[in-house]
Amino acid sequence: MPPRARRQRRRTKIAAVHTLNADLHSHSTASDGTLTPRELASRARANGVELWALTDHDELSGLGAAASAAAEFGLPFVPGIEISVSFAGETVHVVGLGIDPSAPELQSGIAEVRAGREARARAMGAGLAAVGIARAYEGAVALAPNPNLVSRTHFARFLVHAGIVPDLHSVFRRYLVDGKPGYVQHRWARLGDAVRWIRNAGGVAVIAHPGRYKFTPTEEYALFTEFIAHGGLGVEVVTGSHHAADIVKYTGMALEFGLLASRGSDFHDPLESRLDLGLGAEGERLSARLTPVWTELRLPDDAATA
Ligand code: AMP
Ligand code: MN
Ligand code: MN
Ligand code: MN
Repeated sequence: MPPRARRQRRRTKIAAVHTLNADLHSHSTASDGTLTPRELASRARANGVELWALTDHDELSGLGAAASAAAEFGLPFVPGIEISVSFAGETVHVVGLGIDPSAPELQSGIAEVRAGREARARAMGAGLAAVGIARAYEGAVALAPNPNLVSRTHFARFLVHAGIVPDLHSVFRRYLVDGKPGYVQHRWARLGDAVRWIRNAGGVAVIAHPGRYKFTPTEEYALFTEFIAHGGLGVEVVTGSHHAADIVKYTGMALEFGLLASRGSDFHDPLESRLDLGLGAEGERLSARLTPVWTELRLPDDAATA
């Protein structure tokens, strides 16, 4: 192949992805992450993240500290949230990006979602006590920096610390998923409500990690069409819970449904999480065929838009 053709070929390959290292999904101590918003901002900067969103579960309280740390480190920042939703018998997560944290409807909506967590956590503790694991509720609460946000992750960490299960992944499989002693059925927000809270707060709603849900193709189709009917605009294509085949599948679904594409690590902790902030040096980028969600976000002037 003549050198010019080879150069051209290489150029075509490079142009096939959006190069911006955006990480639009992460958790702090305000929900079930182990780093503070400031520590996350610093780590994101060090890892070469070019656009960062903090998206704590059902919680906005980390966003102020995240925004000021990001400004201090010169890191373009997007305020976000991850809302827990019940849909077709499954828990679905909806990420909101570019939300105004002072929006009253969003604040009161998620306050109600959080309120349900207390009784759920007590019931989880009772379920675990019934199989001989004492004081798991107290143990989980002690590991939760935000007392209003006790999650399965805190129970999982307690069970590992207590030496009952060797690692975080087997805790979920053995104790914390549907049908296991520490699992409690729970009604989260309705899909339409979560999308509306996000939209009315000026944000873009995004279906989080669709590859994780145990839906039939019909249920998944219903999720996408109802989400869009409510005004949802995006879907996560590259995330910590997607492997190569999921990325291919949801690239196709984003194109088929005309959804904006998002990318995020879902980082919680340096040792627990599969992907670090920024998704690693070789972290997958979004295909150039997709329209990235950040084209719809109001970005600071200096944020790259590749
Ligand atoms: P909750 O909102 O209390 O149901 O907790 C859900 C959180 O548990 C998720 O956001 C993850 O951080 C974590 N989680 C769920 N499944 C797993 C798993 N299999 N392994 C590790 N963490 C998990
Ligand atoms: Mn989590
Ligand atoms: Mn999630
Ligand atoms: Mn998450």
